[in-house]
Amino acid sequence: MESLITHPDLFPDEGNNTFADIILPVPIPRMFTYRIPAALVPQVQIGARVIVQFGRKKVLTGIIGKVHSKPPKAYEAKPILDILDEQPTVNPLQIRFWVWMAEYYCCHIGEVMLAALPSGLRLSSESKVQLHPNFVAEESQYPLDAREELILEALENKAELSYEDCEKILGIKTIHPILKSLVYKEAILIFERVQDKYTPKVETRIRLKQEIAEDKQTLEQLFEQLSGKVKQESILLKYLRDIPVFNNPSLNEKGLDKTSLLEEGDSESSLKTLIKNGVFESFKQVVNRIDETEVTAGEIILSERQELAISEIKSHFDTKSTVLLHGITGSGKTEIYIQLIKEVLESGSQVLMLLPEIALTTQIVSRLKQVFGGQMGVYHSKYSDNERVEVWNGVISGRFPFVVGVRSSIFLPFDSLGMIIVDEEHESSYKQFDPAPRFQARDSAIMLAYFHQAKTLLGSATPSFESYFNATETLKYGLVELSERYGKSNLPEFHLADLGADKRKNLLKVDSTRMMREKIQEALSKQEQVLIFQNRRGYSPYIQCEDCGWTGQCIQCDVSLTYHQFAEELRCHYCGYKEKVPVSCPACGGNHLTTMGMGTERIEESLSLLFPEARIGRMDLDTTRSKYGYQKLLDEFGSGHIDILVGTQMITKGLDFGNVTVVGVWDGDRILNFPDFRSGERAYQQITQVAGRAGRREAKGNVIIQTRKADEAIYQQVIKGDYLEFYQHEIHERKKFYYPPYVKLIKITTRHTDFKTAEKAAMELHRQMAGVAVKKIVLGPEKALIGRIKNQYQFESLIKLDRSGASQTEFKTQIAQIQEQITAKPEFRSVRFIVDVDPN
Ligand code: ADP
Ligand code: ZN
Ligand code: ZN
Repeated sequence: MESLITHPDLFPDEGNNTFADIILPVPIPRMFTYRIPAALVPQVQIGARVIVQFGRKKVLTGIIGKVHSKPPKAYEAKPILDILDEQPTVNPLQIRFWVWMAEYYCCHIGEVMLAALPSGLRLSSESKVQLHPNFVAEESQYPLDAREELILEALENKAELSYEDCEKILGIKTIHPILKSLVYKEAILIFERVQDKYTPKVETRIRLKQEIAEDKQTLEQLFEQLSGKVKQESILLKYLRDIPVFNNPSLNEKGLDKTSLLEEGDSESSLKTLIKNGVFESFKQVVNRIDETEVTAGEIILSERQELAISEIKSHFDTKSTVLLHGITGSGKTEIYIQLIKEVLESGSQVLMLLPEIALTTQIVSRLKQVFGGQMGVYHSKYSDNERVEVWNGVISGRFPFVVGVRSSIFLPFDSLGMIIVDEEHESSYKQFDPAPRFQARDSAIMLAYFHQAKTLLGSATPSFESYFNATETLKYGLVELSERYGKSNLPEFHLADLGADKRKNLLKVDSTRMMREKIQEALSKQEQVLIFQNRRGYSPYIQCEDCGWTGQCIQCDVSLTYHQFAEELRCHYCGYKEKVPVSCPACGGNHLTTMGMGTERIEESLSLLFPEARIGRMDLDTTRSKYGYQKLLDEFGSGHIDILVGTQMITKGLDFGNVTVVGVWDGDRILNFPDFRSGERAYQQITQVAGRAGRREAKGNVIIQTRKADEAIYQQVIKGDYLEFYQHEIHERKKFYYPPYVKLIKITTRHTDFKTAEKAAMELHRQMAGVAVKKIVLGPEKALIGRIKNQYQFESLIKLDRSGASQTEFKTQIAQIQEQITAKPEFRSVRFIVDVDPN
């Protein structure tokens, strides 16, 4: 689609009374009201894209958020210039959702729009320059300088110029002052050509000329003509083998994909000759990017316990819109989801299932694919943008009534959701950390379901405290519990391996306890598989000088650099900064640099020393960057080509491999030591989840946790599998110290490149927030845990707010105003505030 805007004033004011609030792109913070000219009123629809003038000279594309008859008070509404869509790009329910999200998460609605639309649907607005239609050089009251003349001359010969053209014509980079002056002199106009960036995937196909395909004699003659021309002959033969036009000439129409025709080393030039001689013709065809191969699987018969759970869920849904399914690992939650999804789809409604990022390529998706085949769309974050647009369009067309996706799939254009499932609802990756909107996908899904009058099912073996609280204390959610594994499998046996004790007895070998080594050996000798978990990638956390204590620090952030052995580099995990490992200590010049602590890379190395015969794989951010990297490792592990898989959080999620009998937690204490009110909850979840990968079939599983603090209560609770006891203990602390779910948290980070300015702005923010009249506690401002990132100093304030909706809304409105006031002061102009509602 293409639309060219020339002159905004060409639309006369027709004095009618229809107005629209337009959602404009970042950085414009809110909707602006425009008048709809009478001629366009019949086409107006919420969610349609429009073109508007913004400020004096900019022309922008926006989306109609609201239609009404109230002229704005503070400014004169300008007219909308054009409406781009006959069919709205987004539907009214989506707009409602965006508005809610911007308000709840304190961000711009334009930021929500940016996150919501796949960039293939976003509009690229490339500015162009054209002559002002009213400009007559002789009559101009302003003199033009030489450079301005050059631009005008060029515009005499060419109707429009891009900025790049202008740069070339003038031979300089800073063209803006010149263009600005020309606009001021009303000699030129700047406009934007708007176009969809989505490009359908096009395949080149080859077919015989129809007259040849239809006539056997001609075909036979052709072979005679080609005799001796081996290459051309072989292409023809290959074609006829795949497309037997002898038997059925109508097959020819579809033709053959060019790449598969040429795949066996046939030459492109021979094909060209054949086309030139009128034997073949080539044509283009739009194809689906999304693979639709269907696999079917045998019927599953639900167990009695599963049937019961389903009826419990349904009866809760009679009175409640959200249900928490608390089922231990391996209890068979997936089959329960499948049954419910089938029923909702049969009733004609849509279903969305959210999965944490990393679980999306695992078995659960192939299981769902077996059942739902082509009606299921998968929305993956590693998808290319065009693939995403296809899922988007598939939801609109009805091709995908069911979508499984990552957190951003809540933005898809559903218009009649019946149910949303959030699997592994406790997962912290459901929260978008950066950039805005900093939304929590689970909570947003519940809101989205509410807008659709749909139901939400949350599933987890280790529910988030928020959800469990809502299910047991406020009773907003229904609760269904599954406390046994499906079939013959039992929960694994736990072993605490005491690192301190082994060290004293001299039993440690490359940081492994005797228990860990024995259990791994036992599994290997039975041809069973092992998972080793460590939540730290790289070789070892850092390198230190034994003589003077020097450690490598990032030059842009206040953090130590992580040593990556394979690349021989020190890297910052916060900003990506990297440097070569120094040969000697940069501080004292000494030669005793040693590695401290353990990352996955180093554990992989240790294990290969301990078990030289074992095949060891590693799964972390560094080994799974490519689109299929993760899948490849999983396939290798699944098919038994890897005996021991070492990995970060990635290996804890959703893996269902029957042959895994040993799970090792390399450093349990690392999981506990996180300076955060949620550290206990997180540790319980992580250890339980990773342990849940062991012994999922008949063979018994063993979980070994290496620790220096074997008597920590949390280990006992994990071992007992007593979520309730653990929850009750922790929730008590949350209540006592005012933490969620008893209060709402908002974190505001103040950032600036100058330490003093950042601190001063943060103090000012604090002072003003304290004055807002709602029930709250304001903590800080404090230097952030990482005081500086990418050269920006950061201070944090934490606000603990009363849970009531009214005080939250009031406080959020005030915060927006306070920020505006502060950044209006010249000294704070470049200060940034980052508001994080319900931070992780
Ligand atoms: P969860 O998601 O609760 O951890 P899964 O849904 O992965 O558990 O189920 C655990 C294992 O039990 C899987 O291998 C699954 O195929 C199997 N399973 C679950 N329910 C059934 C059933 N009704 N019939 C056969 N196998 C089942
Ligand atoms: Zn850094
Ligand atoms: Zn040193």
